[in-house]
Amino acid sequence: MSKSSTTDSLAQPLLPHIALLPCAGMGHLTPFLRLASMLSSKNCLVTLITASPSVSAAESIHISLFLSQHPKVNHIEFQLLPSNPTTITTVDDPFFLQWQSTNRSLHLLYPSLASLSPPLSAIFSDFVVASSITPIAGQLGIPNYIVSSTSCKFLCLMAYLPILLSNDSSFSTLATQVNIPGLAPFPITSIPPPFRNPNHLFTSLIATSAQDLSSAKGILMNTFNEFEPETLAAVSDGRALNSILPPILPIGPLQAFELKNDHDEYYLSWLDNQPKESVVYVSFGSRTAMSDSQIRELSKGLDRSGYRFLWVLKTSKVDRDDTQEVKDMVGESFIERTKNKGIVMKGWVSQQDILQHPVIGGFVNHCGWNSVMEAARKGIPVPWPQHGDQSVNAEIVDKAGLGIWERKWGWGLEELVGEEARKATGLDGNSEKVVMEVVEYLMQKSN
Ligand code: UDP
Ligand code: UDP
Ligand code: UDP
Repeated sequence: MSKSSTTDSLAQPLLPHIALLPCAGMGHLTPFLRLASMLSSKNCLVTLITASPSVSAAESIHISLFLSQHPKVNHIEFQLLPSNPTTITTVDDPFFLQWQSTNRSLHLLYPSLASLSPPLSAIFSDFVVASSITPIAGQLGIPNYIVSSTSCKFLCLMAYLPILLSNDSSFSTLATQVNIPGLAPFPITSIPPPFRNPNHLFTSLIATSAQDLSSAKGILMNTFNEFEPETLAAVSDGRALNSILPPILPIGPLQAFELKNDHDEYYLSWLDNQPKESVVYVSFGSRTAMSDSQIRELSKGLDRSGYRFLWVLKTSKVDRDDTQEVKDMVGESFIERTKNKGIVMKGWVSQQDILQHPVIGGFVNHCGWNSVMEAARKGIPVPWPQHGDQSVNAEIVDKAGLGIWERKWGWGLEELVGEEARKATGLDGNSEKVVMEVVEYLMQKSN
């Protein structure tokens, strides 16, 4: 934190000091880092709080890179208490275990937050710690804003989960849809399967957070009006989830900041040599492992489609465990046959640079929300958002093969989505306005 901001404070109004608290997973860290970068560029004081040890290498690398490129941002790294030993034996998802440990450990953060100087004006925290951050924000006497890493529609489903779980018939085998008053029904196939089981760690963490949403001052959402018009209208005019949700503040699509790595050169220079809008980019995000049969199906599809492609392959949930070689997964003959029109890669790529590249014409993706917003920003077609569990996402890709984006995706509509997305984040756009309104509110409070 810069000293000058404190000494200048006599002359100028105090700028808000905001603590950002993301939870495990690149899909969660990314919107927080983008928001931190934006707030810091608006001269807010920013303290980034991260849990140690991190689950994936991608998270530690991005936190270090971010801090080295944002020297004004203060960092608190806090040691997590170990996970509950009984949960470890029953849950195989290290990200969910980390969410649980973060909830269990958060009370330890209070002294370091209380001693920050200048004092905090607000906490911006992850949805999955809503219930454990509420008392801390209360003790500090400051507002907590939740930062959502998913769509407004999925957030509504999570917010309503405690009510759905209390009703035996919600997820019965006979149900074809799930109803939330004020919203269009959710097809039962779009509901994450773990939600049927109240004892599933994912379900219990989400349901616990959902019970505390109204204590938050607002929910900052990486979405924009033109992308989710009906859902956003229903929650903002009080037709849906009125007593459950605090104000929803759409601030998307969040803008990426530059993060360059040397190893990006290889595929970026390959892209430089392809024709405009000719390459299909295939990636299933940071934590979706592909099975052997999915890999086989996709490689057949890519081979047959004849399109150029950049395929980023992951075979384990956590990057540190991903040791298989590309050639052992797709076969040497596939690599040989397609060497003139595509590349298959392992490891982290800079998706924000890839999606920005003019040669990308389509994006086969699992519909992780960050990816959807990044694609929307660029007007690049993705399969329609089907926020839900991985089996639904895999089904979309499986059914679609690579035909759907060719047959059904209208470029006109996509161009429009891209234009609306850019407008939403432009200087006169709603998103920027919403962030600035929050900052101004916090400034008035602290002066
Ligand atoms: N991402 C990336 N390179 C990769 C994998 C992922 O840059 O190799 C980024 C991607 O651009 C997005 C985030 O990581 O910002 C993944 O979040 P998303 O919500 O799309 O999916 P998740 O990984 O959470 O399933
Ligand atoms: N949609 C679109 N182009 C895209 C992505 C989505 O036209 O690139 C559509 C999407 O299929 C949906 C609508 O926009 O029908 C809005 O999305 P959603 O259903 O999530 O929100 P809602 O309409 O309920 O607010
Ligand atoms: N999910 C989400 N936002 C979150 C966390 C999870 O949209 O913050 C969705 C995600 O798309 C995922 C689903 O909820 O597909 C359930 O999680 P997951 O599939 O990883 O659980 P599993 O089925 O592996 O137990």
